[in-house]
Amino acid sequence: MITINEHYLKLQASYLFSDIAKRVSSFQENNPDKEVIKLGIGDVTQPLPKACTAAFHDAIDEMATEAGFHGYGPEQGYDFLREAIAENDFRSRGADISADEIFVSDGAKCDTGNFQELFSNDITIAIPDPVYPVYLDTNVMAGRTELFKDGRYGGLVYLDSTKENNFVPSLPKEKVDLIYLCFPNNPTGSTISRDELKTWVDYARESKALILFDAAYESFIQDDSLPKSIYEIEGAKEVAVEFRSFSKTAGFTGTRCAFTVVPKACVAFDKEGNSHSLHALWNRRHCTKFNGVSYPVQKAAAAVYSPEGKAEVKALVNYYMKNADHICKTMEELGYDYVGGKNSPYIWIKGDIDSWEFFDMLLHKAGVVCTPGAGFGKCGDGYIRISAFNSFENVEKAMKRVRKALQ
Ligand code: PLP
Repeated sequence: MITINEHYLKLQASYLFSDIAKRVSSFQENNPDKEVIKLGIGDVTQPLPKACTAAFHDAIDEMATEAGFHGYGPEQGYDFLREAIAENDFRSRGADISADEIFVSDGAKCDTGNFQELFSNDITIAIPDPVYPVYLDTNVMAGRTELFKDGRYGGLVYLDSTKENNFVPSLPKEKVDLIYLCFPNNPTGSTISRDELKTWVDYARESKALILFDAAYESFIQDDSLPKSIYEIEGAKEVAVEFRSFSKTAGFTGTRCAFTVVPKACVAFDKEGNSHSLHALWNRRHCTKFNGVSYPVQKAAAAVYSPEGKAEVKALVNYYMKNADHICKTMEELGYDYVGGKNSPYIWIKGDIDSWEFFDMLLHKAGVVCTPGAGFGKCGDGYIRISAFNSFENVEKAMKRVRKALQ
């Protein structure tokens, strides 16, 4: 008899985006003349930078020639891309990361989800609340949690991110082995200072723990005093793995390209306390289960680091940040408390009703779709997330309607 991995039965069906879709389509059926503006989902809307599409085209043309054809590439990614990443994203900011510490992949979702495979099932895991659900669900699937009760899985240490701690969790009281951090944060849009991040790095070093640092939104950081990479913090190379993505930086959500940095100094331990290289373990896993990102996509990604690519990516980020600024100003003028939107494309807004009521009110009174914060965890209740990923015209129109609805 074929039996299932029963840990899957513990998973909470992800009703969030399907619930949103149902409510939106029922609203549209009942109000066919009303245009709905979507500021809910975290998907980009602007086209790929021209430098990327030109490199993409050239690489496809190369593939059509005998001399330029590429079959299976290196699983870890082509050197031209790994070198460009190491130089531009790390060494230029004083973080000593080498090209062979970078693993190119087809998404930070897969990498943040898969990395937990390297660890034993009896580790203690600290997960932020609210959270990008992938970290949580992949550990549930792996059997590292107990059942879901009263809005939380047993057996995990939740790191509350609330107004009281400025949406940057404090160190846990109990000892933990694996820590997930995401800054700039999805969903709250909050950022972490160098000193705060150093506290986490020091904690991990003292307790032989590991930090999985998700920096998928680093390109939105405007304030130069904020760290873009955890490796800007001294000692982080021994205790942190970092995830990055071209999805939000350069509009690659549909093109798919990301990377994970696993420094050679990073270790984890066996039961006897002997240390093992995480780089070697992840390399083994990556080469066994992944066959590389296509050559044209890696060429397109490498074009992000050309002078034209850099200028276009900056313009893309500025475009979304102008949207974010407009959303922040509207909320400020309406007297709402919010965080994010300054160094992040997400604005996390506190209502005085529950998340879903807030969502329904904006949908029905303004025809604007946001994301109810409760869908990201217990601490998200009472909040909504508004995303800056849309055209400026739509954001402007949406904010006019929101202003009318909330005033
Ligand atoms: N990490 C965070 C925090 C995200 O919000 C997302 C996507 O929304 C991802 C990772 C996934 O990125 P990718 O498109 O590279 O899979």
